[in-house]
Amino acid sequence: MPTGRRAVPRPDPDRPGAFLANGQAAKSGLNRSVLDAGWGVFLAVLRAKAESAGRTVVEVNPANTSRTCAVCGHCHADNRRTQAAFVCVACGHTAHADVNAAINILRVGLARQATEAA
Ligand SMILES: [Zn+2]
Repeated sequence: MPTGRRAVPRPDPDRPGAFLANGQAAKSGLNRSVLDAGWGVFLAVLRAKAESAGRTVVEVNPANTSRTCAVCGHCHADNRRTQAAFVCVACGHTAHADVNAAINILRVGLARQATEAA
């Protein structure tokens, strides 16, 4: 197995179209485990910080929050011109895509919080 930070896949001379093992599959599995653990730790720290600050954490389903217009509610993939630019094809509202999505996520979170409190 090659050593170094990035193992370049090398063709297997005995199996046409196949490559010699370079450890990438094992590394990918490890990276997934680290990411899974990282997210859980992040949420635990976030909840603890919020509690100590007298705040609450509300988890929301982010589906379509980046494609929905925060002004008129029109939801369409074409609203995202680029990764950063949000331009509503229905009402013409323009915003940074992350800001538009953050407004939608806040709205969903507040609605969820209101229904849980009722
Ligand atoms: Zn709109």
